[in-house]
Amino acid sequence: MTTQTPIARPNLSALEREYLMDAYDSSWISSKGEYIDKFESSFSDYIGQKYAVATSNGTTALHLALLALDIKPGDEVILPSLTFAATINAVLYVGATPVIVDVSRDDWCISCDEVKAAITTNTKAIIVVHLYGQPANIDKLNHIVKENSLYLIEDCAEAHGAEFNGDKVGSFGDVSCFSFFANKILTTGEGGMCLTSSELLQNKMRILRDHGMDPNKRYWHNVIGYNYRLTNLQAAIGCAQVERIAEIIQHRKKIYDQYSQWIGDIKSMAIQAQIKNRKLVPWLINIICEDREAVANIFKRLGLETRNFFYSLGEMPIYSKYCVADCINSNKLSESGLSFSALDCPSEEKLSLLKMQLGQLRHECPVD
Ligand SMILES: *Cc1c(COP(=O)(O)O)cnc(C)c1O
Repeated sequence: MTTQTPIARPNLSALEREYLMDAYDSSWISSKGEYIDKFESSFSDYIGQKYAVATSNGTTALHLALLALDIKPGDEVILPSLTFAATINAVLYVGATPVIVDVSRDDWCISCDEVKAAITTNTKAIIVVHLYGQPANIDKLNHIVKENSLYLIEDCAEAHGAEFNGDKVGSFGDVSCFSFFANKILTTGEGGMCLTSSELLQNKMRILRDHGMDPNKRYWHNVIGYNYRLTNLQAAIGCAQVERIAEIIQHRKKIYDQYSQWIGDIKSMAIQAQIKNRKLVPWLINIICEDREAVANIFKRLGLETRNFFYSLGEMPIYSKYCVADCINSNKLSESGLSFSALDCPSEEKLSLLKMQLGQLRHECPVD
């Protein structure tokens, strides 16, 4: 029986362990300590953004971003149908109205034409999700945002290090949100971060993260806040991950290149595209295929774990009322997309079996 290659695992080294034990030995194991400042500054430097506020996870980062931008009931926030549910849930937490639109066929990210069509006088913000490590069309979105005086929030939970025109995603939005969950490109176990160029937004997010406490008057509260802090232990792991990010990304890219070389020749499937002027950072290896079940079974028999794409938000009863138009591309991708590990390549022997068996599937690619 073949052993299972998991779809994701954290890429950890001796350095993470060293920093983690250092934090532990310092006894600063809660949410104060020098690794938190270091993690915030090293990660924001890496992305190319001025201020950073580390959070307990990516979902709380999104919640803080919306709170800091004062998004409230009556406001509309446009977001893509193909994403993880946290993107829309954060909008619902602040009582605003999510407006679900379709994604584009080429990059699987929010469609700029659909965004334009969905704007009303109540629209306050767009959340762009750089899905599966693919940078969305930031140029077009920036244009729309400026023209309509909207906020841009970037959900970069799956796209650490991805670039649009040479700039990193997370450097464009009014606030950008990252996740450091164990299966993400960079991890701290659980964790998140908000980046911004605005000192005002940074200060607001810091206060909201820490129970709404007045920074100059301890135990005095001017706003209702939250405990959304990251611990020093988690930040220690994060510091090591930031130091190793080039190596971490390079490894994922190598796996992607290995697969893309031969998957490109199989007519019944297509691998996630590399687009001109954009740098994809493979979070998972993603393919779209006509007979997904058959493909998944081939992987399964070889001990390689796979996962279907996210369900299209608009197809789930709790969210469908927020759909303003058909999400044909999202639905189609959701039905035909399959993911597997971008960290572990199967052995030569397994790989040749995989190539042979996948090559024997005879179907046309659904998106040609
Ligand atoms: C993982 C993820 C989140 C949420 O991050 P958590 O750290 O799990 O809360 C948000 N958006 C997207 C697109 C994600 O993939």
